[in-house]
This record gives sequence, C-alpha cells and structure tokens, in this order.
Amino acid sequence: MREMTCLECPRGCQLMIDEGTLEVTGNSCPKGEAFARSEITNPMRVLTTTVVIRSRNEKMLPVRTQDPIPKSSMAAAMNYIKNVRVKAPVEVGDIIVSDLADTGVPLIATKRVSE
Ligand code: SF4
Repeated sequence: MREMTCLECPRGCQLMIDEGTLEVTGNSCPKGEAFARSEITNPMRVLTTTVVIRSRNEKMLPVRTQDPIPKSSMAAAMNYIKNVRVKAPVEVGDIIVSDLADTGVPLIATKRVSE
C-alpha cells in the first residue's frame, strides 16, 4: 500500500493505493482514483519555469506547460527550454513551444511582456 495526497483539488484527500491491484481508497471523487493510479504508473506534473527574452531589460519570461507532462520527461523538457529564446511582445497564453520534449503538450507564457 502506498499513501499519497491527491493534488487534483484543494481538498487534498489522503489516498491509499494497493500497488498490486491499483485499488484506491480515500478518494472523494473519481479524479482521486485516476490521480493515484497515474502516480503509480506514469506520474505527471505541470512544469513551471522561465525562458530567456531576447534584447529586453526584463530578461526572463515565466512559462508553464499547458497540461501536466510525465515526470520522466522533465529533464528533457528543461534541457530544451534552456536554449529557447523568446522575442517580445508576448501575451499571456501565447504558445512558446508547441510540443515540448515530444510530450504533445505546449509550453505557454504566463506573463505579458510588451515590446
Ligand atoms: S479525490 Fe476528488 S475531492 Fe479529493 S482531492 Fe482529489 S479531486 Fe479533490
């Protein structure tokens, strides 16, 4: 049995999962069951970081993945992101990378930067 906190909503249910049968208890809704199973088989997280802005006083643009990506892809994603350069202007929600590290998930801006 493995214990974990569900991160799908602020309620934070304490989940127990049988790592053999993947039976989940402690969840108050189906999202918790899916979360616990994903944590065992393919844990996912939203990646938040920054990328470099070209030719700006404000040098870094905050970004995040639009959806969670596999934890196993985090290193490849960060390796790719460190070489990304963005040209202002940028609006919140602009796609900075369309398919980050072959995850199929875009990397988007979380701050507006004017020209
Ligand atoms: S199990 Fe459902 S109610 Fe509980 S924290 Fe997860 S999403 Fe929220």
